[in-house]
Amino acid sequence: MKIIKHYIEGKEYEGGERTGDIFNPATGEIISKVQLGDSNVVKKAVDVSLKALEGWQNTTPAKRAGIMFNYKKLLEENVSIIAELVSKEHGKTIDDAKGSLQRGLEVVEYACSIPNLLKGEFSSQVGTGIDTFSMKQPLGICVGITPFNFPVMIPLWMFPLATACGNAFILKPSERDPSSSLKLVELFEEAGAPKGLVNVINGDKEVVDALIENNNISSVSFVGSSNVAAYIYEKSASFNKRVQALGSAKNHMVVMPDADIEQASDALIGAAYGSAGERCMAISVAVAVGNAADRLIDSITPKINKIKVGPYNDKLSEMGPVVSKQALERIQSLIASGVEEGANLLIDGRDIKLQGYENGYFVGPCLFDKVKTNMNIYKEEIFGPVLSVVRADNYDQALKIVKDNPYGNGCSIFTRDGDTARDFSNEANIGMVGVNVPIPVPVAYYSFGGWKNSIFGGHNAYGMEAVRFYTRVKTVTSKWPQGLRQGAEFKMPTLG
Ligand code: NAD
Repeated sequence: MKIIKHYIEGKEYEGGERTGDIFNPATGEIISKVQLGDSNVVKKAVDVSLKALEGWQNTTPAKRAGIMFNYKKLLEENVSIIAELVSKEHGKTIDDAKGSLQRGLEVVEYACSIPNLLKGEFSSQVGTGIDTFSMKQPLGICVGITPFNFPVMIPLWMFPLATACGNAFILKPSERDPSSSLKLVELFEEAGAPKGLVNVINGDKEVVDALIENNNISSVSFVGSSNVAAYIYEKSASFNKRVQALGSAKNHMVVMPDADIEQASDALIGAAYGSAGERCMAISVAVAVGNAADRLIDSITPKINKIKVGPYNDKLSEMGPVVSKQALERIQSLIASGVEEGANLLIDGRDIKLQGYENGYFVGPCLFDKVKTNMNIYKEEIFGPVLSVVRADNYDQALKIVKDNPYGNGCSIFTRDGDTARDFSNEANIGMVGVNVPIPVPVAYYSFGGWKNSIFGGHNAYGMEAVRFYTRVKTVTSKWPQGLRQGAEFKMPTLG
């Protein structure tokens, strides 16, 4: 059986006593094993990164941009290969995997403009004969710890911009689906990045802890569940590292009575059930206001019943399995708790059986109506194809539901009324808001990040926020001898 190793200095690297199993979620079979690294592997990767940094920090931003241009082209040429690697280990459909790569590619495209993004500031004559300028300098070695659900998109949020800013990067992908992340780094080197600039260590908590504890590492970018995000944030801060940690979500879509219900229901189907609900921007709660509720349910029910569930390699599949047996069991038990707590399970996908895939981790789309905010299915991030409809009497009540939720990644409102949409955009305490757009994932030249328990740390992912995260500002105040000698001064210097 294939054993997936680490990737250090441009080649496979063996290390660590333990291995983890990689499954095909559609069949439940173990398809490969992955080495789980340890502190020795971390030490090796750090040594290699330090060596790579020496040359890299002296390359011009224009040269780095040239590599990003090559990389973008190579990724485009390899879309099918990469998507297959994602789908095989994750379970999502090939089209969905291609879409996620496209969103990652946009960040590489953004990184092509790095000479412009790294421009500093300059002020002449801040005092007589004195100029001040600031520049953005790289941090050193940056680390990325990424989740299973976007094994190419999320690494692409991180290492292209980190390296374009002049840093080296160590990626610790999810141990559940690491193959596509490894392919990304191989292609980066093919595009011209020096070997050892980006290294990949596979593993779990042991590697993560060793990375954070290593003195040569300057920053930690994390995306995953909130419990782990909080841990990473605290631990990284205690080791004086710059840290951004993006966490879990419970995203709401408010549907107003004046909304175009057909448009809202189409949007809701894709946003709730795409990728089997395993997206941090999936809509898992529809807050239906007033008489929108019955009309919305009438409209979505037949559409949900038509969703074709199947393995990634069946061209007709619209939704694949969830990632693991544990995820499946957790989702099933949350559905059972919803029934026990009195929510109305209108569509029950638990008994789905697919011929030839009886051991796969499939759960069909589920729809709950009359969900209350004190129920477990409302409070927990289910991360599966389960949509809860919460009924609200009016807009104020709907807004309050959104605001009271402890997570704040994304949300949206469907309405034809400009006033309501504007008020919602201003008032929602959520990082990414959509108006008649269900999954408002910003384009690469904005930035991605939630509020409240969906983020720990002050920086969003990608966009200018990431350039700021991956650089530190140095401000120089300079004066050139003009023949006038003033002698020593002992009072606090002031400019004038
Ligand atoms: P996870 O938190 O289990 O794992 C994420 C990463 O952390 C993995 O690389 C894993 O190996 C590592 N890890 C896990 N436990 C750890 C521990 N105790 N100590 C140190 N490292 C640990 O998340 P997941 O199941 O892979 O991904 C799903 C979660 O990620 C969901 O909660 C989802 O909402 C969230 N997510 C958030 C965003 C966002 O942008 N906010 C994007 C994608 C996914």
